[in-house]
Amino acid sequence: MRTETKCLHSGYQPKNGEPLAMPIYQSTTYTYDSTDDIGKLFDLAADGHMYSRISNPSVAMVEEKLADLEGGVGALCTSSGQMANLIAVMNIASGGDNVIVDSTIYGGTINLFGVTLERYGVHTTFVDLSLPDEEIQKHIDDRTKAILGETIANPALDVMDIERIANLAHRNGIPLIVDNTFATPFLCRPFEFGADIITHSTTKYLDGHAIQVGGVIIDSGNFDWTNGKFPGLVEPDASYHGVAYVRDFGKAAYITKARVQLMRDLGAYPQAMTAFLLNLGIESLHVRMERHCRNAERVAEYLAAHEKVESVNYPYLKDNRFYPLAQKYLPNGCSGVISFCIKGGKENAVRFMDSLKLAVNVVHVAAARTMVLHPASATHRQLTDEQLVAAGISPGMIRFSVGIENIDDILEDIEQALASV
Ligand SMILES: *Cc1c(COP(=O)(O)O)cnc(C)c1O
Repeated sequence: MRTETKCLHSGYQPKNGEPLAMPIYQSTTYTYDSTDDIGKLFDLAADGHMYSRISNPSVAMVEEKLADLEGGVGALCTSSGQMANLIAVMNIASGGDNVIVDSTIYGGTINLFGVTLERYGVHTTFVDLSLPDEEIQKHIDDRTKAILGETIANPALDVMDIERIANLAHRNGIPLIVDNTFATPFLCRPFEFGADIITHSTTKYLDGHAIQVGGVIIDSGNFDWTNGKFPGLVEPDASYHGVAYVRDFGKAAYITKARVQLMRDLGAYPQAMTAFLLNLGIESLHVRMERHCRNAERVAEYLAAHEKVESVNYPYLKDNRFYPLAQKYLPNGCSGVISFCIKGGKENAVRFMDSLKLAVNVVHVAAARTMVLHPASATHRQLTDEQLVAAGISPGMIRFSVGIENIDDILEDIEQALASV
């Protein structure tokens, strides 16, 4: 199956007489004939669901669909995108270890790693991953466990050179984790360029309708965890009577450990109903993404030609510094998200935003409706001025998330709002 077909058919194929729509198994637990059957589940010696903090049949269907869309061996859904990135890193890094994270990454991820995880002893070094290899290499030491960045950074819109960064990571014996939220597997499949682990905030385009908060971790199955740097995946797990993940689960070692160890303990698993809603969104992902991209290309061109606009950041504009990388990694479009600055700084940015009639002013991005946000006073409010600059955000910058409405209505709305500035 190709991507568009997978969006509809992966994960659940009803048999004779079964419901066409994915069923919602809203149950905390599952019944078995004997205590021995349940004992085997606790030893990880048999497949099956036991408790919905660890797995659930409805969520499992969406996990299979997402793994299939990205070309991975397995997936673990989480209660948010934040939880996906946290578990993705916690699964391989412990106190005293460090990770390299792109400095233009989403503001929430900067807080999560730079402030919160730091308190628990895992250090994050923020590095601009668009710098040459030598500059990034300087920050890697023998306690570095991963490199993490976004395919298209939110909201700086830097495009990662996935192949180059994956090679750099592999030369150091560590995996590359790619947050593929803005691209979605419809626009880019990072495993094809050497990434090892993919995360998503499914809250964004995958859901597409702003109705559920969720995340996912997907394992390519390609990384060799036996190189001595990842004892947690190789040595026996005391909390499972000596299960050794690589020995017992092979290519699915990483994603199995994330589920049976961290998800078991942290309990940040989505509900069946949430999985149903997410699945419904994914069914139309390909159609929506195409419209988001075509509409955003028109908006970017319109803004770039407007006298009241100081600068437009959209990787498909030919003078954008990420244009060549966007052509390579995002041949079908580079999402609906644009950032731009209006002449006159923050004051005019706020006036423009408050004058919009169709575009909604919300703390959200990457969904069907056209949405607008001022990062410096919202999602990136906790960042210092220095961090704002590093994250590619200026005080007057507007993040414009182009929806799938009629393009003429979107452009007319922008035009009338710019007229008020
Ligand atoms: C929104 C977002 C997150 C966080 O996801 P939540 O679902 O809000 O927890 C992580 N990464 C990126 C790129 C995002 O846009």
